[in-house]
Amino acid sequence: MTDDARQPRLPPIRKRLGQHFLTDARALDKIADALDITRADTVIEIGPGRGALTDRLATRAGRLITIEVDKLLIPILRTRYVDQPHVSVIESDVLELSLGDVAGGPYLLVGNVPYYITTPIIFHAMTRPRPERAVFLVQREVADRAVAAPGSKEYGALSVNLQALATVTLRGIVKPTSFNPPPSVESAIVHLVPRADPVVAAEDEAAFRKLVIASFGLRRKQLRRVVRTVRGLSAEDAESALATAGIEPEARPETLSAAQFAKLLHALPSASADDTSR
Ligand code: SAM
Repeated sequence: MTDDARQPRLPPIRKRLGQHFLTDARALDKIADALDITRADTVIEIGPGRGALTDRLATRAGRLITIEVDKLLIPILRTRYVDQPHVSVIESDVLELSLGDVAGGPYLLVGNVPYYITTPIIFHAMTRPRPERAVFLVQREVADRAVAAPGSKEYGALSVNLQALATVTLRGIVKPTSFNPPPSVESAIVHLVPRADPVVAAEDEAAFRKLVIASFGLRRKQLRRVVRTVRGLSAEDAESALATAGIEPEARPETLSAAQFAKLLHALPSASADDTSR
């Protein structure tokens, strides 16, 4: 459904909630296409806003659940989809919901996400039970970091922590002029497929993230020094852990893949969640 006479008056745009509404039909189609939806799918949309992307998802999905925090948009959305019982609108902060519980089974996830909480949303989306795949429109800078390869200038803790859990690909760039109001930066479409073989087990994820973040705090230092510092190890124990993980002590955090960080975590003494807080 497009805007029509049934639409209540639109509330003011709330920039505080990251409201930059996507108005470019080609970009909207591209996001919906990237999710590869069939009538058998349950889709969750984060931040439907005024419904521009929602319209495209509603025509493709068997069930569409939208989650919007702005209470002024809720009646707009409910009116817009009143004739489409397979579309539901939940008023909530997405970070306060378990998406798996909301879906109640396998699901796909999509959103032109509010930029002020992009990273928390991406990692929230990667908590179990994970979506079968997800497509997000995010700041280009975040997308570049999400797909960055070891050794590149964009490669950092976000790259490692996300690539440990998912295969991430870039699906297109969206210009600021495609939005109302235009954001100050370019945006990009990212496609994520949670890995069937995550490089860390569920119980090690918190320890892994802490190790990665602490290591990138020292990204230009050699790992023999990094491991000693972040774990408070002796030189001997640090070298021994690196040898067990098959990592050169002269290597630097910015060159290690997610799989290598996982090997390092497992090679460290007492690699429990508690120990990584040091
Ligand atoms: N999907 C629409 C579009 O493409 O035009 C709107 C995108 S706008 C960038 C982000 C949307 O997320 C807004 O509607 C905003 O109100 C909503 N939002 C912001 N914070 C949220 C949160 N914590 N949980 C759910 N929705 C949120």
